Amino acid sequence: MLEKIHVKHHKKITIGLIYLASFTALCAFLAFIYFFEGKSTSGILWWKETTTFGLGQRLAILFLAIALTLVAIVSLFAAIKLSLMSGRFNKYLPVIKGCDQIAIQQIAAMMNHAPHQVVSDLQNMIDSGYIKGYYINYQRQMLVERGDLPRNIEKKVVKCPTCGGNTQITIGIVNYCKYCKCLIPDER
Ligand SMILES: [Zn+2]
Repeated sequence: MLEKIHVKHHKKITIGLIYLASFTALCAFLAFIYFFEGKSTSGILWWKETTTFGLGQRLAILFLAIALTLVAIVSLFAAIKLSLMSGRFNKYLPVIKGCDQIAIQQIAAMMNHAPHQVVSDLQNMIDSGYIKGYYINYQRQMLVERGDLPRNIEKKVVKCPTCGGNTQITIGIVNYCKYCKCLIPDER
């Protein structure tokens, strides 16, 4: 699911997740204290009021504490994963730079990633505008600079396999349905 998040949002979301993780961890910690103490004290100095929790309440607090801990752990992991992803995306830039076209296989070998990972990362970077002027030619399995369009631009109307709408495609480049925005597979 994290793979679908556009790279330009990574930083904001990572920070948000860290805040969420810290906040839920703090709440979980307080809930654990209430659970173990079995009572809560409110007020200041001589004006203090102590409420003792019953067993049902203590169990409810325990469940809350566990749930909050889980949320904190999941958000922390997601934040770590996202920041690792951002780091991975940065490393593509020097590899791609200055290439009119480069084989996915070659990028994969240079970066020591699986080709499907490379395709997914590159498509994310293109969709989010992180790298501009490139598209993936899925048929040739290459990342191609947009200036390098086929000379004889051939267009035709095809039925979208996803929504069934009739949409015009340009042969030789990646096409998306104008109705549902889904990828139209190359069929040449
Ligand atoms: Zn469609």
